[in-house]
Amino acid sequence: MNETAVHISFALVHVSGKGNKAAMNKDLNGGFGTHDDYGNSLFSKILMRVKAKGIRLPVLSFAFLQGILKQKGFSVQYFENEIPLANVHFDVILLYGTIVDFKNENEHCLKLKEQFPNSKIGFFGPFPALMPHLFRTADFVILGEAEAFFMNEFISTFQLEGQVNVLSLTDMEELPLPDFTGFPVTSYSYHPILPYQPFLILQASKGCPYSCRFYCVYGKEQGAVIRQRSVKKVADDIVCLQKQFNIKAIQFRDPVFGLKKGYIEEFSEELIKRKLKIYWGIETRLDLLNEQNIDIMYNAGLRNINAGIETSDKIIAKRNKRLLVDESHQEKIIRYCKKKGINVSAFYIIGMEGDTELTVMNTIAYAKRLNTLTARFAVSTPYPGTGYYTQMQMQNRLLTDDFEQYGQFSLVFRHEHLSPVIVKKMLNKAYRIYYLRARFTAMFLMNTVRRKFSK
Ligand code: SF4
Repeated sequence: MNETAVHISFALVHVSGKGNKAAMNKDLNGGFGTHDDYGNSLFSKILMRVKAKGIRLPVLSFAFLQGILKQKGFSVQYFENEIPLANVHFDVILLYGTIVDFKNENEHCLKLKEQFPNSKIGFFGPFPALMPHLFRTADFVILGEAEAFFMNEFISTFQLEGQVNVLSLTDMEELPLPDFTGFPVTSYSYHPILPYQPFLILQASKGCPYSCRFYCVYGKEQGAVIRQRSVKKVADDIVCLQKQFNIKAIQFRDPVFGLKKGYIEEFSEELIKRKLKIYWGIETRLDLLNEQNIDIMYNAGLRNINAGIETSDKIIAKRNKRLLVDESHQEKIIRYCKKKGINVSAFYIIGMEGDTELTVMNTIAYAKRLNTLTARFAVSTPYPGTGYYTQMQMQNRLLTDDFEQYGQFSLVFRHEHLSPVIVKKMLNKAYRIYYLRARFTAMFLMNTVRRKFSK
């Protein structure tokens, strides 16, 4: 092929999880994807079904890529839950690869190769970038941020062979508007956390400097340096998505929203100044919040905060390089958010280094005390690329090299105190204890009623 850039046609193909992998969201967990699996009990199955029905997110990188490629003058078509028709030719087909579904994704790649023998088919995403050998079915794998590659380095399809090294990073300010044309926008939802539709996701920053990068995928994937999109650009993104899709709510996919001093206030003031009617949610550390910035964010439409609590045990937190938020501050902020009508979703980890059955029970007890709208308990997982994984490898403690087990719901390393069976039981127990409580039911019902009347 010797085409000029303008003639290149792209297909972006999102492969969805199927069957028992329906409760899968590939954008989450630093782009490695999550596949919730709380166990085989009736209660776990009901909970998984509720989650699969309620939470469905697009992969944001596809939307940014569509925006970038169109801006460069290429033709692009996006496919989700469908295979492109063989009678249309695409020069390049891009698939998103994940840790939780890479076998299925490779099978799809093989089918596409049969159907499109003359196309170049490749994978992108943080997991293929780290483990390209697991995506050998493809013609190429992008080793780095695909957005940066197609914005700064792509000239010709000749570059798309084998392992494609990316030399630059994505400049968040230079990114065009994420283009969701062709996405099944009305099917995306974030219930019950941000229960307004049409719903989409956006990103205002990449990067996180905290020491828990030791075990967290975001640290490796996005680096420690914060790359911020300006307040004006993000507000423009919202305006465009409102015009195009009439969106009612947005969840920001930043690892930690509001890391740059003053951003929270400036962003909220911009939304208020423009009189934008949008509900939005963020993921952040609760020590970045106080009553004043919560007030201004609420006035600008904030209705959800996702917060990583991880553990309440100071010794375990320190051992796992996690800087804990002061308990009294955490409780005060959560109480204040509930009073204002902002949902809080909390994340906890079971089986961290040093955890015992007692400390896990303490974490569950702490979760009950915080009594947030949702609580997610995940199993401590040493992800490839992190310091945690390297440590486990060096200590010869990894129990499996089947990476689809690395979905945060099985213990994949030899733990000093807990066996995989015990961890699975405790995970099950955590969900049962947390959700089957009168205090949780009362809070959930009150929340539902309050939302109905505040519409
Ligand atoms: S603060 Fe959150 S996003 Fe940042 S490294 Fe720690 S766990 Fe990851």
